[in-house]
Amino acid sequence: MDLKQFFAPGRPCFSLEIFPPKDHQGGVETIYETLDGLREVHPEFISCTYGAGGNLADSSTIEICSIIKEKYGILPISHLTCVNNSKENIGVIMDSLKEKGITNILALRGDLKPGQQPEKDFAHASDLIFYIKERDPEFFISAACYPEGHPDSGDLITDVLDLKKKVDAGAEHLISQLFFDNEDFYRFRDRCELAGIDVPIEAGIMPVTSKQSILRMVSMCGASIPAKLAKILNRFEDKPKAFEEACIAYAIDQMIDLISNDVDGIHLYTMNKPYIAKRIFEVIDPMR
Ligand code: FAD
Repeated sequence: MDLKQFFAPGRPCFSLEIFPPKDHQGGVETIYETLDGLREVHPEFISCTYGAGGNLADSSTIEICSIIKEKYGILPISHLTCVNNSKENIGVIMDSLKEKGITNILALRGDLKPGQQPEKDFAHASDLIFYIKERDPEFFISAACYPEGHPDSGDLITDVLDLKKKVDAGAEHLISQLFFDNEDFYRFRDRCELAGIDVPIEAGIMPVTSKQSILRMVSMCGASIPAKLAKILNRFEDKPKAFEEACIAYAIDQMIDLISNDVDGIHLYTMNKPYIAKRIFEVIDPMR
């Protein structure tokens, strides 16, 4: 489905991201609790992450996308990584998605695993995007972008030129990596404009839920923690309720500023926590 309808001028798109439940013992059905809460936020779409391992036997992302579509009537976007997948496997996954009526993919390279030989069919997300579009042009492709640059990029100019390759290959919508300083996002938007990238760009916002996990995450994805947030993390780390309230307030503050600066859309990394998403959107929804 063409997402462009969600990006009318003056009305930012709101979307959510979830991941397949880590405890597979309960099966993907345990996702119902998460989705029951998230449906109340009325997102334009919900995307579901995909493991970087390229394991065809794990169909949890496809199953969850199907549940989002059929049970909740919400548009799903299936993440799909290519670094450890062959063209043959990608073809099988595309066919399974199409069978379930899912034609929206967030096309990603995935992270390279230390000690694991990557598949040779795809080096970059742009190769995957090109392959999907060539094999079945009906798929609508989204791609990832990085306000502070991807950790593998030598510099911010190379980073945005590589992003342009994804758009030229067929990506029609971008979702950003998490960031905590909106100025990083605004500078990135300016670079995109200079590079001729004119597809909608959604800002990825992650409400912090634990100091340890956010420090681990930023060390992997290359995002930085501004002094204002670092002080909050340090001040309230031993007071769980205060910590949660302060981090929700920080995310809301970021979003109000983004909306005031005409962001195309906000993509909330929900961490499968509907309570936090609901708290945030109660405040934000009237501002659309
Ligand atoms: P690419 O676009 O291939 O970029 C990777 C690096 O290669 C960059 O440094 C880029 O500058 C460079 N590059 C790109 N194209 C070229 C080219 N043609 N020539 C030379 N260099 C190039 N990971 C998962 O495993 N599962 C998920 O579900 C998932 N979801 C994500 C969702 C979002 C919104 C984001 C921001 C990230 C997500 N990731 C996920 C993480 C992602 O897989 C990693 O960030 C990965 O390291 C890069 O993926 P990419 O698609 O951006 O790669």
